Order: sequence, then C-alpha cells, then structure tokens
Amino acid sequence: MTRRKLVAGNWKMFGSHAALAELDAIAATAAANEAVDVAICPPFTLIYHAVRRQPGLAIGGQDCHASATGAHTGNVSAAMLVEEGARYVIVGHSERRQDQHESDADVVAKAAAAVASGLVAIVCVGESEAQRLAGEAEAIVSAQVRASVPADATAATVAVAYEPIWAIGTGRTPTVADVAQMHATIRATLTDLLGGEGQGVRILYGGSVKPANAAELLAIDDVDGALVGGASLKAADFVPIIEAAVSVSTVAA
Ligand code: PEP
Repeated sequence: MTRRKLVAGNWKMFGSHAALAELDAIAATAAANEAVDVAICPPFTLIYHAVRRQPGLAIGGQDCHASATGAHTGNVSAAMLVEEGARYVIVGHSERRQDQHESDADVVAKAAAAVASGLVAIVCVGESEAQRLAGEAEAIVSAQVRASVPADATAATVAVAYEPIWAIGTGRTPTVADVAQMHATIRATLTDLLGGEGQGVRILYGGSVKPANAAELLAIDDVDGALVGGASLKAADFVPIIEAAVSVSTVAA
C-alpha cells in the first residue's frame, strides 16, 4: 500500500516571533511538493501567528488536554487548538511521558479528544535505551501502541511516531535494520488493532533525523514520514528533509 509521507516538525519549547520567518521557506517547499504532507508544531503561543503568516502550511500543537473544557490550569484543549487554526497535534511525546508523567491511558484519551475535534493526532511511542539493551524494545513499543492508539483510529485521523527515547536529541539513530523491524512490528500491531485500516495509518520515525540521514531512513519499508525535533527549527535543515521525503516518494511512485 502506498502511504503519503508526512514530515512533521516539533519545535518543543523553542522558537519566538522572530523564528516564524523560518516558516516561509518551509511553506514554499511544502506548496511546491504536493506528494508529501508537511506540518510544523510550534509552542502554543506561536500557533495563531504561524497560521496567519503561512495559511497554506499545516500547523499543529505539541499536546492537548483530554477534556474539552474545565478547571485545568495551564492546559489547552483540542478544540482550542482548532480555533487557532491547528490541524495536527502531537500526543504522548516521551518528554511529556517523562516530565508530566503521562501514561498510555492519558495519551489515548488525548488522542481521542484530538480526533473528536478534527485534528490529526500524532501518537508517540518509543523505548528507553535500557529497554532496548534488555531486548524488550518491540514488546514495550507494541504494548504502547495497543494502549495509546484509539480503537476507532483511521488512516486519516491518526499517525504513530516511533521515537526511541535514546535517539531523541542525541545524534544517534537505530540501524536501518532495527528501524525496519520496529516499524514492521508496529504495522502488525496496528493491523491487529484496527483491521484493514491499520494498513493505512502512517508510521513516522523520529529521533535525530537530519538532512544527512533523512533519505536513508525515509526509504525504509513502513517508514511513512518523520517527526523531526532539532532539525525542524531552521528551514535550511528542514527543507532538505522534506525534499528527501519527496525524492523517496517519487521513486516509490
Ligand atoms: C522529537 O523531539 O520528537 C525529536 C525527534 O527530536 P530530535 O529530532 O531533535 O531528535
């Protein structure tokens, strides 16, 4: 099955109004390459401004609350993201699982709320280095997928991002064989969970994706895109990653 690649940038708690200028070249590249989907997820405070600066570029949040409204100081609901013009939201990033102690139950509730509000939920999963060294990576990630992806997820509403925790921001990546094996495991889990729809759900790879390794990673079977942290902050780094996704998509077509 051919799945349209998605290249999503996660700005984390970086960026400012000045950084919005980076969106111009990213948006131009996205517009010129309709074979792939591109999204940027800046901090909440920049979403409104990013959407207005580049209305054609898909913008996303980095988290949402599971409830629509309520006494939840400091939180933002999926509907609020939609009101600002967001089209995507990342849920269950390992930094939130760690810093905010988010469980799979929290993540699946956030993903369901996002989908109910019309956002595409990018659901993050990934093992720690200790879990990989113990030979537990596939079992851990498969269990995370089962518990974090809503039962009614579809190819249009949810993407899964496999992000080995030890690869995030470290410059280290798994081998091509390890990425291929994990993505095949996630695909099998999604198919078991969602039936035929699981074949269409995109599985992104995330963790130290750079211009130099993007083409190799994006060419792996069942790698349907990338979730990019550090290298999404500068158009000079992110644009070549989009172009790598385009070149791989063209070859595959
Ligand atoms: C991320 O934050 O999701 C990520 C993959 O970061 P980096 O690309 O910097 O490793």
